[in-house]
Amino acid sequence: MAEPIIVASDVHKHFGSFHALRGVSLTVQPGEVVVVIGPSGSGKSTFIRTLNALDPHDGGSVVVDGIPLQGARNLDAVRREVGMVFQSFNLFPHLSVLENVTLAPTRVRRTNKAEAERRALELLRRVGIEEQAHKFPAQLSGGQQQRVAIARALAMDPKVMLFDEPTSALDPEMIKEVLDVMKDLARGGMTMLVVTHEMGFAREVADRILFFDQGLIVEDTTPEAFYNNPQHERARVFLSKIL
Ligand code: ADP
Ligand code: MG
Repeated sequence: MAEPIIVASDVHKHFGSFHALRGVSLTVQPGEVVVVIGPSGSGKSTFIRTLNALDPHDGGSVVVDGIPLQGARNLDAVRREVGMVFQSFNLFPHLSVLENVTLAPTRVRRTNKAEAERRALELLRRVGIEEQAHKFPAQLSGGQQQRVAIARALAMDPKVMLFDEPTSALDPEMIKEVLDVMKDLARGGMTMLVVTHEMGFAREVADRILFFDQGLIVEDTTPEAFYNNPQHERARVFLSKIL
């Protein structure tokens, strides 16, 4: 097997006295698409935020592409490897679409401006919004903004992309355009961890489904096995509510 992209071992996280992650272990291989589901408050966001050290864990270990995440060390190195897309697009409102996408490559990777712009336009074409390059985020629809956020993350050539409910803030007609971009990425071989309750997406592109409950992964299985025959009582109850 190839070197795993993510190795999380017995990860714990406390918020004060609240034990939000209670021993999460996960290995993700290159090219795997992992969909993360589970009830609200079960630790999904907290866990994926530990993977790029947005929220450092306080027990266990996380290694991303061979780089151990420890305290303040290695943070920049790891963040370069990990692209992150949030529910609320988090674009820089005062920058154009093109500037949003070129900012990190020019500042962090020191790519020259012309090269960064060439690459940004290529990525904007890939997510279907090249013609919006000179607009500002507020001039775009939610679905378009989320596609810019995906292009911005891709501009750093990440080894893995993390998505935290990327379509939850979108109107129904815009969900598909974002999921289509994500499917395209998945088929192109990108390693992805996606928190989403979009079951069509999960069935179509996920290699694995993780079900979180109360700070633990309680199922780690294929989409077929999960949707047809969940093993854990909490997963059955959850599925009966979203199906
Ligand atoms: P999910 O994404 O599965 O809905 P989260 O990972 O956001 O769940 O949250 C897991 C638990 O940790 C929740 O009970 C939440 O209230 C708590 N939590 C998350 N972030 C913080 C924080 N910054 N401070 C205190 N508690 C938090
Ligand atoms: Mg969440």
